[in-house]
Amino acid sequence: MARSEYAFERVHDRVHRLPTPFEGGGLVNLYLIRGEKTAVVDSGVLGTPTTYLAPALESLGLQLGDVDFVLNTHGHMDHLGGNAELKDAGSEIHLHRDDAERASSNRLHTEMAAEGLKALGLEHLAPEREAFLLRLLGREVGVDRLLEDGDTVDLGADVRLQVVHTPGHTRGSVCYWFESAGILITGDSVQARGSRPGGLPVIEEPQLYLGGIQRAESIGARTLCMGHAFKGPDGDLGPVPTGPAVAQVFRESLATHQALQGAFERAVAEAPNAGGGDIARRALDTVRDTLRLRDEDADGLPASGIMTLPSYLRVARG
Ligand SMILES: [Zn+2]
Repeated sequence: MARSEYAFERVHDRVHRLPTPFEGGGLVNLYLIRGEKTAVVDSGVLGTPTTYLAPALESLGLQLGDVDFVLNTHGHMDHLGGNAELKDAGSEIHLHRDDAERASSNRLHTEMAAEGLKALGLEHLAPEREAFLLRLLGREVGVDRLLEDGDTVDLGADVRLQVVHTPGHTRGSVCYWFESAGILITGDSVQARGSRPGGLPVIEEPQLYLGGIQRAESIGARTLCMGHAFKGPDGDLGPVPTGPAVAQVFRESLATHQALQGAFERAVAEAPNAGGGDIARRALDTVRDTLRLRDEDADGLPASGIMTLPSYLRVARG
């Protein structure tokens, strides 16, 4: 796809979506929100603002220096890796306090990945994963405004965004609720079946995810603006589901979570002393058909599961 195809698409008078690609075949959506002030929800990876956001802004007569706020939905590398470029252009960085450390420590990202891989007996994959993460993360620039549930980001011109804490994907994942438009910007908070075909959702905190899904659903949004085109059983549910597709996202997110939780509980009960990788394989064998899993490039385990599987394992082991 030519760079010019990564252009803004209008979601609402005040909201535009920009799909941006990153290494490894990923695609993350940034959202431009305009009141009297201008905000960008998420910054992509290192280089995304310069390579993709700046040309797209130019098509609207704007430049990076016109972005007042970066509103991170959470602290993953494909959502905050571009923060430094925007901070250098003058933006203020917003992130929930429970993910704030990820904005000031790239090492934390590599340590978490290494720990997850070790729990699955895949520590030999850690160096490659660590190098990948460090290529995608920009310079650490920290957070200017630590967000909490219920906070308001006021862009002026009647564009107000309410911060809704929806943990599970990460501990500090949030949604931004643009009530007068009926739009909930969910980032990666509700994952359905995840962003990779035949893969798994990325869930670091399974014990918080159910509450996060229910909280997001309770907002009553007509439209979701998601970080990725999360999948249902028959393909993409996003990146901007509206109408009945909104309910389907919540239903799929809940059903996938419950399937994984049940599978790990059974696998741990059957083989309490087995290694983490063995338990994860046993658990996945019981849900492979239900979840239509076919993404297996981490030594027979889904590559999308390298954070999710150790997390469900930890919870099931108690
Ligand atoms: Zn994420």
